[in-house]
Amino acid sequence: MTQRLYYHDAFLYDFEAEVCEVVPASGAERRAGVVLGRTAFYPSSGGQVYDMGWLATTGEQRHRVVEVGEREDGSVVHYLEAGEPLGVGTLVRGTVDAERRRDHMQQHSGQHVLSAAFVRLFQMPTASFHMGEEYCSIDLATDALGAEQVVAAERLANEVIAENREVAVRFVTRSEAESLGLRKIPPTERDELRLVEIADFDLCACGGTHVANTGQIGSVLLRKTERVRQGWRVEFVCGIRAVASARADFTALSEAAGLFSSKLGETPQLVRKMQDEARALRKENEDLLEQLAEAEARRLLAEAVEVGGSKRVVQAYSDRGLGFVKMVAQRVVRLDANVVALLAASTPTPALVFAQSAGLGGDMGALVKSTLSALGGRGGGAKDFAQGGLPAGADTEAALARALTGLSG
Ligand SMILES: [Zn+2]
Repeated sequence: MTQRLYYHDAFLYDFEAEVCEVVPASGAERRAGVVLGRTAFYPSSGGQVYDMGWLATTGEQRHRVVEVGEREDGSVVHYLEAGEPLGVGTLVRGTVDAERRRDHMQQHSGQHVLSAAFVRLFQMPTASFHMGEEYCSIDLATDALGAEQVVAAERLANEVIAENREVAVRFVTRSEAESLGLRKIPPTERDELRLVEIADFDLCACGGTHVANTGQIGSVLLRKTERVRQGWRVEFVCGIRAVASARADFTALSEAAGLFSSKLGETPQLVRKMQDEARALRKENEDLLEQLAEAEARRLLAEAVEVGGSKRVVQAYSDRGLGFVKMVAQRVVRLDANVVALLAASTPTPALVFAQSAGLGGDMGALVKSTLSALGGRGGGAKDFAQGGLPAGADTEAALARALTGLSG
């Protein structure tokens, strides 16, 4: 079992130790590692992620510690970047990456304060804690979580941080712990428990690394909340991460405000206004298109020729899309009870729309199919209305001429 120096001093970043076991890379272990007699490196555990750093020998060899894990027997394995292997009995000087550790202490200690704040204010216990690369989160065991509750818990947590309360660590027996009214007792059968106490605010059992005073957390900023299976998930960031995420938000919001030449706070209102305007313009555009289609249908009918007892309307548009051409076709056959319309659209790709007044003897579906199959396109439809697409660059005038021949035949 490795002696864990961080249990007693989370600010110890340099230490000396002896290699007592070498763990070779194998199927389960991607990299080789070493077990030391004692360590200040924190292994992934209880939601907190592992430390990184270096192990140096007296021979000036420096090994990067890329991951730290713990085994069931209580030993801590330091996985090393590939290099000269360290042998059993080697003396090493360990150096923990202080910046990474400080970040983890800020997030983890901030989590204690935040979890306690949710219990104090709303009796919402924390069911689990996750520390990610960007955000951390807790899952609260509750059916409902309101926006005001999030703000209130954030406020209380930041007050406790500003009060710079002491964060003390002590060891007690399990039976002692049970009489102390802890926020959280681990389920594992251990005789000795490590307690982390935030003065007059929180007491819980935890093996992680924590700040010495709450002021070192800096601040806690609550972010997204979402319903999850076991309750509500609350994302948060503490300390320097909180500043970094606020900075990123400010940059994004400033860019948006710049586009509107507005103040930051006015931007959402302007976006809403712009959405309303866009919706109104879309509606106006649709109305205008319908009016245009109606006028176009009347123009086509006025110029229609009569062949074999029914009128024929033939038109290829070079600057119109399928949607508009369909609108025209529908109006042509609605306005006249005895007409066949063969129309073609061109944008974004060429397409054909064939329609006839209800009850006429032709078969537009069959006509579209036969016209397109000869030209490498695809389409179909019913007796009175059919459409289909042509390959890009196809000559729509020629396609309509071909369809006319089919219609006559
Ligand atoms: Zn903790």
